[in-house]
Amino acid sequence: MTRTLVDYEAVVGADAISQLRQAARDLKGATVVHVNSTREGGGVAEILSWLVPLMNDLGLETRWEVIEGHGEFFNVTKMFHNGLQGNQVVLTSRHTDVYEKTVSDNYERLRPLLESADFVFIHDPQPAHLLALCPNRKGKWIWRCHIDASHPNRKVWNYIRSQVRGYDASIFSMPQFAQRLEHPQFIIAPSIDPLSDKNVDLPDEEISKALDTHNIDPERPILTQISRFDRFKDPVGVIRAFQLLNGTVDAQLVLAGGGATDDPEGAVVLEEVREAANGNKLVHILELPPDAHRTINALQRASAIILQKSLQEGFGLTVTEAMWKGKPVIGGNVGGIRLQVHNHHTGFLVDTPEGAALRLRELMSRPEKMHTIGRTARKFVLDNFLLNRHLREYLTLMLGLRRGLANHLMTD
Ligand code: UDP
Repeated sequence: MTRTLVDYEAVVGADAISQLRQAARDLKGATVVHVNSTREGGGVAEILSWLVPLMNDLGLETRWEVIEGHGEFFNVTKMFHNGLQGNQVVLTSRHTDVYEKTVSDNYERLRPLLESADFVFIHDPQPAHLLALCPNRKGKWIWRCHIDASHPNRKVWNYIRSQVRGYDASIFSMPQFAQRLEHPQFIIAPSIDPLSDKNVDLPDEEISKALDTHNIDPERPILTQISRFDRFKDPVGVIRAFQLLNGTVDAQLVLAGGGATDDPEGAVVLEEVREAANGNKLVHILELPPDAHRTINALQRASAIILQKSLQEGFGLTVTEAMWKGKPVIGGNVGGIRLQVHNHHTGFLVDTPEGAALRLRELMSRPEKMHTIGRTARKFVLDNFLLNRHLREYLTLMLGLRRGLANHLMTD
């Protein structure tokens, strides 16, 4: 169902929506293209699925295009992803050839759009090479990096840097991720759509039905991590934390996730997770289809505590989603999770499975604290991480680039 800005007034207030309309006034009719590498699965697709219709609703002619590629291309781009998040990877000229060839093939299809667009947002490294192929561009090009690139593998970063240095601007989710680049860098945190299937209020019956479908006991408290099966999300660490509780807490663990079409490593990691669970009946490992938004919503709502024990995290929309549902979050002490989880206020940051087990035990023994933290968490999302703030910052950035303010600021 397509929602329009008016629908959001009830959540964020009429003033917030009116600010967006004002900011968009001078951008009416501008053509905008977003390019990423998957239409479903993962946070970027989640964001584009509301951002693109709402930009259109504001009068900007906005399109969402997806880079297409084969297995080898996505192996290379996943290697870029892993390298940017600090893993040791070996980058060869064969890798960069595969990458550049696939992006060039896509360029042929996208060329008329990209050459004429007033603004092009390129999300993450996968489509970054497009700029080098488009010498006759008319508009401003922005590289939007969603990854925790604070300590990248040098060789990978040097290559990606060679691809993105010619952009007019880049956007990172937090200051710690910014890099040495010649163009202006902006810090814009992601956000969630409170009215999407992922986040909208659900009737109790729908929540019960979701638990029933997945054989989850509605009477036993539920601890949940929702994530793609990716080692950076540390699903095995979550199982370890649960095992450390050693039956001292009456609870069951749900690890739910699916794949993204641009993530080739999911099946291997899922196998590692199954092995770690070792047949424990209190550990539910759910493989969900990419459109299981209402199921994820129901699982988050049915949970007592949400975990997101990532080892690296660009932002962690799953954290925002949980907090919006009034849940305390136990999150890895990394990246964008640190923007959202503040110890004792909106949840707890942990560095190890032992730390996670300690906080799980503490929270489970203090229901009133869980409740207070959940309330604070929801308010924190309302104030900081809903789509109106995110959209406003994008519009401001576009206005700035169009008027050359960004360059002006840089030379001041
Ligand atoms: N998600 C989903 N299905 C899954 C796993 C995750 O729809 O099986 C969603 C999740 O609810 C969130 C997004 O994908 O909206 C993941 O974003 P996040 O920033 O947490 O991590 P990313 O996958 O982008 O690294």
